[in-house]
Amino acid sequence: MRVEIIKCLQDNFSYLIIDEKTMIACVVDPSEATPIIKFLENKKINLKYILNTHHHYDHVGGNTELKKKYNCCVIGFKGDKDRIPEIDILIEDDQIWKKDNFEAKIYHIPGHTTGHIAFHFFKEKKIFTGDTLFSLGCGRLFEGTYEQMFNSLNKIKQLPKDTEIYCGHEYTLQNSNFCVANDPENFKLKEKIIKIKNNLKKNLPTIPSTLQDELECNIFLKAKDLKSFSKLRDLKDNF
Ligand code: ZN
Ligand code: FE
Repeated sequence: MRVEIIKCLQDNFSYLIIDEKTMIACVVDPSEATPIIKFLENKKINLKYILNTHHHYDHVGGNTELKKKYNCCVIGFKGDKDRIPEIDILIEDDQIWKKDNFEAKIYHIPGHTTGHIAFHFFKEKKIFTGDTLFSLGCGRLFEGTYEQMFNSLNKIKQLPKDTEIYCGHEYTLQNSNFCVANDPENFKLKEKIIKIKNNLKKNLPTIPSTLQDELECNIFLKAKDLKSFSKLRDLKDNF
């Protein structure tokens, strides 16, 4: 199984998860259809599934057009059935979603929105975290509480450390400035920032990160309790 990173809109990432044996693919959070179609064109890849982490337009914007063109199936959180366009399959917390050779555990991780989920492809050690966990950051609280977000991040923190993190946006460099400002002695973070800048210079994504890197460098994952997490979240909003 291979993951192709498709840049969308300003700074969104959509991901194609391709099973190379069958050439069947899932797309995670298609912000818009055109870049996905462009990638698929002339390749014999059969787009069968759309996986949505949450209902925001920059994560579901391509659902309708892709479904119309490829007749694919839209998978999203049960609680968001009225706000994910074209939703077909309703999934819930702790469930395993399994189709063809794809198998992912679903985590309900509210905070950014009340219905946000992550798709954990545990055999491949890859997790798609949408706008909940970013590299070196976490999502804004649009609908949920500090406590929900704190608990959601804690769920992700329990996964194996070599899990690859695929998030919804290229925010890594901006996020790194906030981490450095609040964690100036972190040598590991400084090393990571050098790599991040090198990638961006070559116009390459900074994704995937790893859980190991995030545990060591992401100030939001380093927050030891709800109070310090909440304080950081407030500071970041005004940074
Ligand atoms: Zn969002
Ligand atoms: Fe987003």
